[in-house]
Amino acid sequence: MQIVFLGTSGSWPTPKRNVSGIAVKRGPEVILFDCGEGTQRQFMASKLSFMQVSRVFLTHYHGDHFLGLPGLMQSMNFFGREAALEVYGPAGCEALVLQLLSLGHFKAAYPVKARDLTPGERVDCGEYTVSAFEAVHTVPGLSYVLEEKERPGRFDLEKAKALGIPPGPLYSRLQEGESVTVGGKTFRPEQVLGPPRRGRKIVYTGDSMPHETLVAMARGADVLIHDATSDAALEEKANRYGHSSSRQAGMVAKEAGVGLLVLTHMSPRYEDPATLFNDAKAVFDRVLLADDFAEVEVPYPD
Ligand SMILES: [Zn+2]
Ligand SMILES: [Zn+2]
Repeated sequence: MQIVFLGTSGSWPTPKRNVSGIAVKRGPEVILFDCGEGTQRQFMASKLSFMQVSRVFLTHYHGDHFLGLPGLMQSMNFFGREAALEVYGPAGCEALVLQLLSLGHFKAAYPVKARDLTPGERVDCGEYTVSAFEAVHTVPGLSYVLEEKERPGRFDLEKAKALGIPPGPLYSRLQEGESVTVGGKTFRPEQVLGPPRRGRKIVYTGDSMPHETLVAMARGADVLIHDATSDAALEEKANRYGHSSSRQAGMVAKEAGVGLLVLTHMSPRYEDPATLFNDAKAVFDRVLLADDFAEVEVPYPD
């Protein structure tokens, strides 16, 4: 699984940074979190294709997080998309997407399925889930947790041999959770598999101030992508507008014990984001300040 940052600027784009758009590549699929204006062009400059996007999760309806969606949906049409596109967001998502689809002379030739999510809701996407929880911002907003389901445990070759199961296709069937029969004896997967292994977990705050629920939801995440609108010096101002400082992002990362903190949504006032990085680094060591097109590999924990 890989995270590609398509836009890392807060509120409006700068010559170096586009507004929010975070692509998570997982197998053949791309899951897109937020879709600021110009996200489709950022896709073209990245190694991903927007045609791979299966699901879009919007955090809230400030322009810098969703205005790229109408253009993206229209281009998908030009590229001959047939597969359904799912769009999720806080209350009003369905109505908003209907509006965006009716702008100008446009008719989508593929199905667009929009759904309002309430905090606490979980979308089952097969091998992974995406859960929404409430962000603390100036307008209703959601933060998201992408979490893979548990994987079967590691196959114990020695055990399988000792039990007298011949190597070959029976091993893959056991690995896939099936029981197999050898010489009249039935073997269950748990006889040759170790304990189930956890999947990977990514948390994205969207625009939010730090809060207790966020710390709880981010606990043990491999990657926490956090609003870092200001440096520590302007923290009070950032909080007044429902944002976090990079120092606060560092505090959340530390309390939640995440693997890696990635700072994003930097205010355009910072031409050089060094203070933002340093303020976070002072409280939490494993930190990255995302530039546009930054790639973060998320390996399996074991
Ligand atoms: Zn924003
Ligand atoms: Zn906002």
